[in-house]
Amino acid sequence: MQIALVILYGLLGAFVGVALDLVADRMPKRAPLFQGRPACEICGAGWRWQELLPVWGYLQRRGRCSACEARLPWRTLLLPIVTALVFGWLAWFRGLSFELLADSVYSGFLIVIAVIDLEHKLILNRVVFPALWATVGLMVLRVLLDLPRYLHYGYWLAAGWAPGQETALVGALSQGAGALFGFGVFFILHLVSPRGMGDGDVRLATLGGLITGFPGALAVVFGSFFLFGPVGVLLLFIGKEGRKTPVPFGPFLVLSTWAVMLWGDGWLLRYLQG
Ligand SMILES: [Zn+2]
Repeated sequence: MQIALVILYGLLGAFVGVALDLVADRMPKRAPLFQGRPACEICGAGWRWQELLPVWGYLQRRGRCSACEARLPWRTLLLPIVTALVFGWLAWFRGLSFELLADSVYSGFLIVIAVIDLEHKLILNRVVFPALWATVGLMVLRVLLDLPRYLHYGYWLAAGWAPGQETALVGALSQGAGALFGFGVFFILHLVSPRGMGDGDVRLATLGGLITGFPGALAVVFGSFFLFGPVGVLLLFIGKEGRKTPVPFGPFLVLSTWAVMLWGDGWLLRYLQG
């Protein structure tokens, strides 16, 4: 049963990946998201429906536009594969639940933010703001349905809040605190090194904190610097004037947010149980 869910949900992920590819293509160009069918970036030839099939559509065309032979971007092949793996893993990890829905929404946004940052070195408000709103929406839904999440109680549990007393409202407060923490730390870093740490990174850290709550946000912030590595951090702050870092920071924030989103509950339990 679980295997069937993983396969079906992974397949859904492959098609979501095709949609994310379209988002990653149109958002940086300020093109309307839902207008006109997907087309070649070079000659404008519209894709036939078979060409939109995940992976198969790319392989069938041997990675090139069938009209002008222009090479298709790497993400057209990779996004459906990555999204299918992520969705399959989420279905395996979460089972059919509210958490599966929530983590799928977060993952979709995080993937697209990482891809655009890798490709353009940009974290777009047009993507991060809808992600923030979607996360707030899920938070409200969680309160209305009273679906508390362990990850969001870390602070209160550490302060002696007895397990079993969780309410989704306390969790929402924790999510707000996480957002403030992510924003606060990165806003200071942005003031210290405006070129190294862009304002897009500040908004992305806010999103990471809102998803994971406090103290999950602590792990997100330190995890991102740990992944970025000491050399990267040094470059970030002593980088030459007028020069952006060679590597965008966004994908590292995305990775650590994703890890805390998935494994934060387990880490927290182990910590509290000493
Ligand atoms: Zn073309």
